[in-house]
Amino acid sequence: MTEKKGKIVIALGGNALQDTNSSGTAEEQLEVAKRTCEYIVEILDNYEAVIVHGNGPQVGRILIASETAKDITPVMPFDVVGAMSQGYIGYHIQQALHLALKNHGNHIPVATVITQVVVDQNDPAFENPTKPIGSFYSEEEAKEMMDKNGYIMKEDAGRGWRRVVASPIPQRIVEIDTVKHLCGSSVVVAAGGGGIPVIELPDGSLKGVAAVIDKDFAAELLAEQIGADILLILTAVDKVAINYNKPNQIDLDLITAAQAEEYMKQGHFAAGSMLPKIKAAIKFVKSNPGRKAIISSPYKAIEALEGRDGTTIILE
Ligand code: ADP
Ligand code: MG
Repeated sequence: MTEKKGKIVIALGGNALQDTNSSGTAEEQLEVAKRTCEYIVEILDNYEAVIVHGNGPQVGRILIASETAKDITPVMPFDVVGAMSQGYIGYHIQQALHLALKNHGNHIPVATVITQVVVDQNDPAFENPTKPIGSFYSEEEAKEMMDKNGYIMKEDAGRGWRRVVASPIPQRIVEIDTVKHLCGSSVVVAAGGGGIPVIELPDGSLKGVAAVIDKDFAAELLAEQIGADILLILTAVDKVAINYNKPNQIDLDLITAAQAEEYMKQGHFAAGSMLPKIKAAIKFVKSNPGRKAIISSPYKAIEALEGRDGTTIILE
């Protein structure tokens, strides 16, 4: 096997696993995953890689299915739904990458690690849950669920009531040593959906909580902890822009962390979409001067890695 150039964490966004307006069938997800893997397979020749992926739509679907069937079979707790999504998405990435690697003549195995991520019980995010999940309900149903299940539910822009959960900061990846151990001998899929959020109880046990961790933050933490050289965040745009979607939009090629912070202050990056990626990129490059973060789309991944496309963020 040839000498590797380093370690990379590749964070796959929603578009790497399904097309816009997708009905969300498993078959379609596998097809889109296969396409994505064809674009990124070459990277695995040169880098030891860990793949992180989002799970928003998938978690929503499993939860809705479970809630809809509540009179037949018990509703799955939210942490379990997260674990289920890591399992089936990991399975699809394993199949898709296996095929792409085989066609490419690289015989490295692919393995998914069901990953728990410790969050702080006192994270301020728990005081104001903001992430809507699952189905819409009437006010009456919502009030009953709040009483019966202790859910927090909010009215969602006139569309009905919806459960909301917190989005705390990831503190520690429970399976990090396993990921490090596998890294290099396998392509590892880990921290899917940002990881299953757990809190550590005084007796040392771990307890799943109903929350979602931003996958960009989890990917960043994982990248720091495995000693990655590159954090490659693949999403629905080829480049990060300032004045995004305005007539004076300017796409960014190479920026420093300080420039990124300045643009961030000026409000160029939307909360919940580009902002967490920029924050993750800044944190990663600041963690070690040799590190770089790249934001691009799956289709431009190779060019972006070579600095010919995408947006690269460096320390200075
Ligand atoms: P992912 O599933 O990859 O996390 P998100 O929808 O959360 O995808 O984030 C990517 C989206 O961020 C892009 O599709 C784009 O619409 C949006 N976005 C917001 N601000 C910017 C910006 N300044 N430059 C580029 N894209 C931006
Ligand atoms: Mg996102």
